[in-house]
Amino acid sequence: MTDAPLKLFNSLTRKLEEFQPVHAGEARVYTCGPTVYNYPHIGNMRAYVFADILGRTLSHQGLKLTHIINITDVGHLTDDADEGEDKMEKMAAEKAQSIWDIAKHYTEAYWADVKALNIRQPARWSVATDYIEDMLEFAKSIADKHCYECETGLYFDTTTVEDYGRLARAVTEEGEGRIDTVEGKRNAADFAIWRKTPRGEKRQMEWDSPWGKGAPGWHLECSVMGEKLLGFPFDIHTGGIDHREIHHPNEIAQNQAFCGCGGLSTATNSGAKIWMHNNFLVERSGKMSKSSGEFLRLQLLIDKGYHPLSYRLMCLQAHYRSELEFSWEGLTAALTRLKRMVMAAERLAQQASEAKQGQRLPSVSEFQHPKLRPLIDKFAAAMLDDLNTPIALTALEEALAVKKIDAGMKHAVVAYMDEVLGLDLFKLSRKDLRVRPKHAEISEEQIDEALERRKTARADKDFAASDAIRDELAAQGVEVMDGDPLGWEWKLT
Ligand code: AMP
Ligand code: ZN
Repeated sequence: MTDAPLKLFNSLTRKLEEFQPVHAGEARVYTCGPTVYNYPHIGNMRAYVFADILGRTLSHQGLKLTHIINITDVGHLTDDADEGEDKMEKMAAEKAQSIWDIAKHYTEAYWADVKALNIRQPARWSVATDYIEDMLEFAKSIADKHCYECETGLYFDTTTVEDYGRLARAVTEEGEGRIDTVEGKRNAADFAIWRKTPRGEKRQMEWDSPWGKGAPGWHLECSVMGEKLLGFPFDIHTGGIDHREIHHPNEIAQNQAFCGCGGLSTATNSGAKIWMHNNFLVERSGKMSKSSGEFLRLQLLIDKGYHPLSYRLMCLQAHYRSELEFSWEGLTAALTRLKRMVMAAERLAQQASEAKQGQRLPSVSEFQHPKLRPLIDKFAAAMLDDLNTPIALTALEEALAVKKIDAGMKHAVVAYMDEVLGLDLFKLSRKDLRVRPKHAEISEEQIDEALERRKTARADKDFAASDAIRDELAAQGVEVMDGDPLGWEWKLT
């Protein structure tokens, strides 16, 4: 992008830090993926839009990106702090299906959302149950010095590592309000590395281990896959802000134990150099939670007629570290903003193709045009400043609005910015963005045919007939929009 440094907010130090790759020319990133016991909600998807923007920015900086996103298909309990049931086992019992079928169904649903939101494929989707052997090896290597066994499993003693909980800034004694209901646990914050299958029970997912039949604790998988696939220390670990409180402090403790390293005043002792967390998408009417029956899925937005990329834009309109409130009005506003950009991009693509064919342009970073250079710089400065997408978006819009300039150059600049923001401006058409609720039965051909008749009636000054056609369309849920500034002739209501 430019030679200026990329600055990212490290949750571990609570400071903006310059990104310095662990391996020259590379960026290795691990993102905590979904627990596939249910559909992801749009809040979960905000976490992956954020990770995607991070990945695109690192790639744009010329770094070779290795991005891993895991799929949690075992070990995540209904409470992050080791209480309750395994989410996968619980859902499988409720649905009377095998865990494997549940995992497959919801992993595919998650991937469909990833695709719809234009989130790039990571280097690998690492599935937790493919790494059980590695988890056992990891656990064995830290068991003697850092763990103890009790009735329910093998537990990690959080007092055996320096600075436990620094990421959360939690008071260890109080274990962040965690209630110690597990018998035999030494400290409230201690957590399960291995959960034994209770005597007399049979779990769908269980494996042999030195501590009896059972399943790994949730935190173990991310330590193991991070180390195995990226090597300690890797560059960046991401997740939602909730992971800053329990999951990631526990992962860090395991990593410290595994590496035999000291305290966290040296960030690399944590397993990663930088820990980044996106803030939550919230909903006024209540908590956004996928364990709470009805919840907001991307498919619901699509069924209501919103293009999924309007939700991507909604995410980018807020900085990833700010809380973002979801509302349908907000989504509609994002859709309108996207429509305007797409209309400008459509015109630009047309002009650019009419402009000199085969003209050779320098790379965008070398453009010196006085109208474009400041916008390219503004865009880069925003992205390099801890991924400030709200400002970057304004640079993109300003670039689309520049007048009296070579269309080829302008096209190159817009494409360059969109490569980072991923809004697919040159692939979308105005038509793709038309609000089309799933329940709408009238076809576009029928609407076009009625509008043609109406045009003829109006040309013949037969206003009664024209109004009748308008009413006929209204009865079928079509609002005719004469003189709409965005050039829409109709919308479905
Ligand atoms: P889960 O499938 O529950 O493990 O969550 C997947 C990802 O979504 C994690 O990184 C969570 O931290 C993140 N997450 C959960 N709820 C929200 C929310 N409302 N807004 C943004 N991110 C969230
Ligand atoms: Zn994780």
